[in-house]
Amino acid sequence: MARRMDGKVAVVTGGTSGIGARTAVVFVEHGANVVIAGRSVDKGEALADRLGENAIFVRTDVTVEADVKAMIDSAVGRFGRIDCLFNNAGSGGPGGRIEDVTLADFEAGFSVLVGGVFLGIKYAAPVMKKQRSGSIINDSSIAGSRVGFGGTTYSAAKAAVNQLTKCVAMELASFGIRVNSISPGAIATPIFASAFGMDAAAADASVDAVIKHFDKSLPLKRSGLTDDIAYGALYLASDEGSFVTGHDLVIDSGISVGRTRQEQAELFQGIADAIRDGTSA
Ligand code: NAP
Repeated sequence: MARRMDGKVAVVTGGTSGIGARTAVVFVEHGANVVIAGRSVDKGEALADRLGENAIFVRTDVTVEADVKAMIDSAVGRFGRIDCLFNNAGSGGPGGRIEDVTLADFEAGFSVLVGGVFLGIKYAAPVMKKQRSGSIINDSSIAGSRVGFGGTTYSAAKAAVNQLTKCVAMELASFGIRVNSISPGAIATPIFASAFGMDAAAADASVDAVIKHFDKSLPLKRSGLTDDIAYGALYLASDEGSFVTGHDLVIDSGISVGRTRQEQAELFQGIADAIRDGTSA
């Protein structure tokens, strides 16, 4: 297997679960040294132990500026540089009608989903500027550009991530730093069960059920898997993506593209039925 990240150093926030944990594994398999960041100490340390000397865990809450600064400092202290920052940490945010969302919940959602991305970029940028190279990848969502794929706060925050990505891509391009986003859709991870209020153990145990559901319901007739995003991130982090910046890489089985032929046929059949019923009445 050709190793696509040999000698590179990556920081992965939200590296304790789902997409981030799998991306950390894939990056190490491809020769990178990885800093796994997140709040769950047991999970983070267990993954770092499994990956050996090429990985460390740094307990990080991405809403806390001092934590994010320490995460970046730890990466440079241990591995000497940062070639990739994957701002992946996130959670579902509040659901419900707009009038029922509290300001505190709205701000908490933005703090993780946008503030965490902002802080990561703020502290990684000076390191990458000195190197005159780097790849920043922000985990967005198809909810950032389409309505109906997440709560209002989550969707608005992911839209902000898309624009933040483009603004910073243009600001940092002349330093050789690339800034892109990935918009996943329907990737089987604990995030759905967590958003439904389940505790961490139940959310972790929910993934197989989510896969079975998505295997039937998505256009490509299989669930999104964490590998699907990890390999998208690998492309953007590696030199293969060296001419790509300001881009949003959508990885979603096509669900944000539009209706499948079958869904369109059912819609049109409904219209035809309504016309027939209306004209025959
Ligand atoms: P997940 O398995 O629930 O993982 C979420 C990760 O974010 C965990 O590692 C969690 O770690 C971390 N996190 C949450 N709040 C944090 C905070 N304040 N500080 C540091 N880390 C924090 O979910 P996932 O599906 O892999 O989600 C990863 C990213 O993909 C998110 O940004 C999500 O919005 C995005 N995404 C996912 C999908 C999908 O279909 N799964 C679709 C679109 C976008 P700790 O609990 O240890 O802190």
